[in-house]
Amino acid sequence: AARNSGRNRLRLFDPQLRQQLEQRIQLRQRLHDAIENERFEVHYQPIIDLSSSKVIKCEALIRWFDEHRQPVPPDRFIPIAEEFGYMPAIGQQVLETACRDLSHLQQRYEQPLQLAINRSIQEFPFDHNRIDRWLDTIAAHQLDCGSIEFEITESLLAPEHDSYLQALNRLKQAGCHIAIDDFGTGYSSLSYLQRFPVDLLKIDRAFVNALPDDHQAHSLVAAIIAMAKALNIKVVAEGIETPEQRHALVEMGCEYGQGFQIARPMNLEKLEAFLDSYLEG
Ligand code: C2E
Ligand code: MG
Ligand code: MG
Ligand code: MG
Repeated sequence: AARNSGRNRLRLFDPQLRQQLEQRIQLRQRLHDAIENERFEVHYQPIIDLSSSKVIKCEALIRWFDEHRQPVPPDRFIPIAEEFGYMPAIGQQVLETACRDLSHLQQRYEQPLQLAINRSIQEFPFDHNRIDRWLDTIAAHQLDCGSIEFEITESLLAPEHDSYLQALNRLKQAGCHIAIDDFGTGYSSLSYLQRFPVDLLKIDRAFVNALPDDHQAHSLVAAIIAMAKALNIKVVAEGIETPEQRHALVEMGCEYGQGFQIARPMNLEKLEAFLDSYLEG
């Protein structure tokens, strides 16, 4: 075909485009292998009650290390996994690992820990079997659905995804909690929030990052907190990196927080060490 079309041929041999294409094909193959061999790991970042400093839950975050143990960031591989339809398979593996680890933690600590688990929009086109499988996985680890929170993004609540609400409703009816991740960065029409009974909003770290000096960010965060209170929705601030940011959030009445200032994401072993000293000390 390249012979017949000079233009295509030129583009195909553009070295930069060609390199990008090769990298994507290679990444796809490595992702495929990682799924087949269940080579993903899950790390956990504590989320605390900002006033008491008590750990109330952890967010499960996927980790993928290449052949040289170099981390490949989720923001790099998840878009590609989505493009190739791999997220349902990856999401199931993350859920299994996370449930196994939570079950272990609940046995080890008396405190009723919860887990927040990210979901991609690609996992929501309604499929009875998939949602059943999630609920079965939770039950198989002797976990209560109330200890699992699924984090979705605002785009899932957009009118064009009406059918996805069925899947969300099943999770909700089973007792799982639903959180809106990266709140404030999406289309942010507040009417989306009325379309589904959301339990929690996670204020995007871009806004938290701009605190305490940026007046616009300050007003926005204050407005989100006030609105959430009025709707009886809880709020977590993401990406708290400094004591000043944390302080500003507490002043504004934000209840929960997570970020490098509190703790970084860590593997299960490190999380246990963290919880040991944290819960005892
Ligand atoms: P997210 O769900 O908004 O997760 C929070 C991200 O912010 C994590 O990045 C976390 O490591 C990072 N973070 C936490 N505290 C701070 C801080 O104080 N400063 C800064 N600069 N960053 C902080 P991570 O682990 O690289 O994940 C990136 C994104 O990838 C996640 O954003 C989420 O959208 C997606 N993701 C991660 N794990 C999964 C998963 O299992 N399934 C799906 N579908 N998506 C996932
Ligand atoms: Mg998240
Ligand atoms: Mg987020
Ligand atoms: Mg994000």
